[in-house]
Amino acid sequence: MTTTTYVLRGARPLGGEPADVVLADGVITQVAAPGAVDVPAGDDVVEIAADGHVLLPGLVDLHTHLREPGREDAETVASGTRAAAVGGFTAVHAMANTSPVADTAGVVEQVWRLGQEAGWVDVHPVGAVTVGLGGERLAELGAMADSAARVRVFSDDGKCVHDPILMRRALEYVKAFDGVVAQHAQEPRLTEGAQMNEGVVSAEIGLAGWPAVAEEAIIARDVLLAEHVGSRLHVCHLSTAGSVEIVRWAKGRGIDVTAEVTPHHLILTDELARTYDPTYKVNPPLRTAEDVEAVRQGLADGTIDIVATDHAPHTRENKDCEWGAAAFGMTGLETALAVVQQTMVDTGRLSWADVARVLSTNPARIGRVADHGRPVEVGEPANLTLVDPAASRTVDGAAQATASGNTPFAGRELPGRVVATFLRGRATVLDGAPVEPAAAPAAQRGGAR
Ligand SMILES: [Zn+2]
Repeated sequence: MTTTTYVLRGARPLGGEPADVVLADGVITQVAAPGAVDVPAGDDVVEIAADGHVLLPGLVDLHTHLREPGREDAETVASGTRAAAVGGFTAVHAMANTSPVADTAGVVEQVWRLGQEAGWVDVHPVGAVTVGLGGERLAELGAMADSAARVRVFSDDGKCVHDPILMRRALEYVKAFDGVVAQHAQEPRLTEGAQMNEGVVSAEIGLAGWPAVAEEAIIARDVLLAEHVGSRLHVCHLSTAGSVEIVRWAKGRGIDVTAEVTPHHLILTDELARTYDPTYKVNPPLRTAEDVEAVRQGLADGTIDIVATDHAPHTRENKDCEWGAAAFGMTGLETALAVVQQTMVDTGRLSWADVARVLSTNPARIGRVADHGRPVEVGEPANLTLVDPAASRTVDGAAQATASGNTPFAGRELPGRVVATFLRGRATVLDGAPVEPAAAPAAQRGGAR
């Protein structure tokens, strides 16, 4: 049983000093000064010139919509996880708002198995909090936690668990298996018919507004509920300055809350709604420049723990229509790292070690994913991403690996390039291009557990 050995020459682990890094048999076997590693040449040894490239632990997305089962016309587990690998990810959490909803052990195991068969990244299904995302009865959280998929993250994402007694029960219930409730914070009555951020722009262009308070009121309630029952809360895609303040206050008080921001909320504003282009229609909506500055600050100072993509593929027919009829959501797996580099690294607000924290270590910890988000050290699983930060590219929506074209970054120049991605030592991406898992020898195709 042989596997390919990779020698990364001159890579900079976490952006630090250059090193040669050797990957063999699924783990990191050597990290040494350039030229100092000892690898006998052979047919199964591949050298990668990585001078100046940054080596990160494989990225982990806590918030991906893979659409399967039910909407395979927009994305499948195979196409979405291929896009994830191209974007530098080695693990993703698949949201539960599929059809049928992932609210039973059967459905989460189906998604988990599809992820294993595809072989691009480890797929960790998110379980629904309520049956059918209906917000009326708790789903079988324990059965999903005990299933082969070992679910630890529960969310009705796309919908808010707005009933406070159900939210309280969910928070209490997940404590039994060290789970976390990831809340999509959107007060439903305050956002009925809402189409975009409520503010100057919505008033001027005449689209129904979505007030910041609809998000902030739920976050404020939920951090207090989490404190009351002594449980763990995760806030999905927070988007307003007020939300950052509430999470900062809650953390200061010792409440066990974590929070995510999406790449698009780090860079895009509601001014884009003036185009009436539904590519920019997203939930939560794009906010103001002041909110963008607040979420960047929150990410820089640790109030916001992670960047999560909220990758939300939609078919052309669901996006190429008038704003009011279009679906909410935009893709993000293949552009997330570049947006973080542009907004946070190239501006001096985060180091590459910080990027490893917000895009790998912290999401792996929140999702209780053991083999990802690990240090770049000998003996650790070779789940890694190699990035060339000096490269740049103009985003071409049609050329992406995702099955859907609804990227808000089409035509934009973004910095950095994912050169290679490794899942347990097997290359899923080489020279920026996906490497079909089926092309790898069977011995290299590790299980996802
Ligand atoms: Zn959501």
